[in-house]
Amino acid sequence: MKMPENKLQKSDNENVFKYLVDEFADLKIMRYRIPEWDTLSLRQKEYIHCLAEAAKFGRDIIYDQNFKYNLVVRKTIEAILNTYSGERKCADFESFVIYAKRVFFSNGIHHHYGEGKFVPEISQDYFVELLENSDISHVIGDKTAEEFSEFLIPIIFDKGIYSMRRSSGQGTDNVKASAVNFYENVSQAEAEAYYARFYAADDDKPLSHGLNSRLVKKDGQVSEEVFRMEGLYGKAIEKIVSWLEKANAVAENDTQRHYTDLLIKYYRTGDLRVWDEYNVAWVGDSQSVVDFVNGFIETYTDPLGIKATWEAVVDFRDMEATRRTNIISENAQWFEDNSPVDGRFKKREVKGVTAKGIIVASLGGDCFPTPPIGINLPNADWIRKEYGSKSVTITNLIDAYNKAAEESPKSALKEFAYSQEEIDLCKKYGNLTDVIHTDLHECLGHGSGQLLPTTSPNALREYASALEEARADLFGLYYIADKKLVELGILPDETAYKAEYSSFVRNGLMTQLARVELGDKVTESHMQDRKLIAEWCLEKGAADNVIERKCENGKTYFVVNDYVKLRNLFGRLLAEIQRIKSEGDYEAGKRLIETYAVNIDQDLHKEVKERYNSLNIKPYGGFINPEIVPVERDGAIVDYRVEYPDDFLLQHLHYGKKYSTL
Ligand code: ZN
Repeated sequence: MKMPENKLQKSDNENVFKYLVDEFADLKIMRYRIPEWDTLSLRQKEYIHCLAEAAKFGRDIIYDQNFKYNLVVRKTIEAILNTYSGERKCADFESFVIYAKRVFFSNGIHHHYGEGKFVPEISQDYFVELLENSDISHVIGDKTAEEFSEFLIPIIFDKGIYSMRRSSGQGTDNVKASAVNFYENVSQAEAEAYYARFYAADDDKPLSHGLNSRLVKKDGQVSEEVFRMEGLYGKAIEKIVSWLEKANAVAENDTQRHYTDLLIKYYRTGDLRVWDEYNVAWVGDSQSVVDFVNGFIETYTDPLGIKATWEAVVDFRDMEATRRTNIISENAQWFEDNSPVDGRFKKREVKGVTAKGIIVASLGGDCFPTPPIGINLPNADWIRKEYGSKSVTITNLIDAYNKAAEESPKSALKEFAYSQEEIDLCKKYGNLTDVIHTDLHECLGHGSGQLLPTTSPNALREYASALEEARADLFGLYYIADKKLVELGILPDETAYKAEYSSFVRNGLMTQLARVELGDKVTESHMQDRKLIAEWCLEKGAADNVIERKCENGKTYFVVNDYVKLRNLFGRLLAEIQRIKSEGDYEAGKRLIETYAVNIDQDLHKEVKERYNSLNIKPYGGFINPEIVPVERDGAIVDYRVEYPDDFLLQHLHYGKKYSTL
């Protein structure tokens, strides 16, 4: 096996690992660590290495799926970056580099989130100059150089053509209006008619028809080009399969080998029955330490929601997170028995849920460079109903987001926290207490308490979900300050919880308002939940000055003065919301939400928006993958080392050379 080029081996030999490595346009680039790597066996590392190679070999597929000319655009960009012989230290070339990075970030020429085409901030003449002074012979095919630039320039520069990757307009043919490469020469009506015939109301195990194909009309005939080894994307799929086969030779157990074999069979045949078989087998595996997602899975980019983009994630169980949630769940009954809630509303027997944290080791396809922070699969409803689903959070990515936010010179924490003391407290404990609050919320909060036998489960109607989130949050807030958590070895000391209290109050009363448009009310249930809790405690603790509103240099701050009394307030509100839920007291629930959770003080809202906007925080983040590098001694692989490259552009140029198949 070949080692990556020298430049890519640059890793964190400095003591401080930098998470935030680049910012441009509306994007920021981060790195993520792979903690616990050295707790894995050599075999597990080898397994992950093979799966990571399989993840990278699907890269060309996602470009082609997003838009039929993305690959030619990307290859042209790569050729220019690799071979351009003109001046590179000038504003024009730098603008071109930003365009290149945006294309790599979005896996194409359309914004990964907003869907619209973005164009380079250079002139067309300058682009022609770039082409003329670069070796693009392998990209232009049988076109002349002139024909090629005439073909390419409108694709890149004209916002009037292929303008939206996925169109979702009312009253338009969204299949025709979308640049996404799932349909060729068919209308929305034809596509809908094509798939409607597979639908049968009494089918309790419906196949995901159309999931893995492109729908094409040729000579008046509509038919599917299936993504499989002998079909569309065959060359990429062949590579993916060969790495899955290598992985399978070092799989952890037979279950894993079995479903990986099914996945390979599916890639060979394109048979959707095999895809379902694979998913059933995959979702049943909760034993293996290493896991992966690899396939045509999510349908968000298809205007009809039928066809899936290719994606890959390679991960393994987060042992530390699992240890923590296991301890919490094992003690679930103690937490239930000791909560400040009325005894009639407590469960006699409560079972904690184990939240599952995973660590990703590599991302590919539609998950790279912008991954989700949680995974909940498979998607087929009937499989979820009969066999359940795997639901996990990706702890090392969440950690990277938090650390990167702290690294930027202007952070929301620095702007909205009142004192250096508060900033230091949150920096020291904030990431940990945030995760533990979430664990308590998910593992215990939602599952705690019971309804009175006479109460209807739907009694709280439109206020139910905000009240339910508040109940789970309060359960976590109340217990994060309990010395039991220190005794159980979950929190390091009895000060740590204060970080969560001060962040929660700051967010509930101010920071989260940055996400609401001026003049609007708070409508999202998690946001209502946080506002309700913070506003209620501000008011009820006013006489004791528990939370103090301060104003300095025209800026508002909310400072927690008394953490013990704040905990008592959380307990009181928890007891009240549990009563409301248990008794189904709709009127009281409505009063709480309408009084504390919905309306925003206009002056404060305006101030928060202005202060937040002045931070210039990039709204979208993406990642550089770590490299998993074999370590050889005397011709044998003795270990796999993780390296953390820090150059986004170089990683993509390297991928372009090594993993291009189509
Ligand atoms: Zn929740």
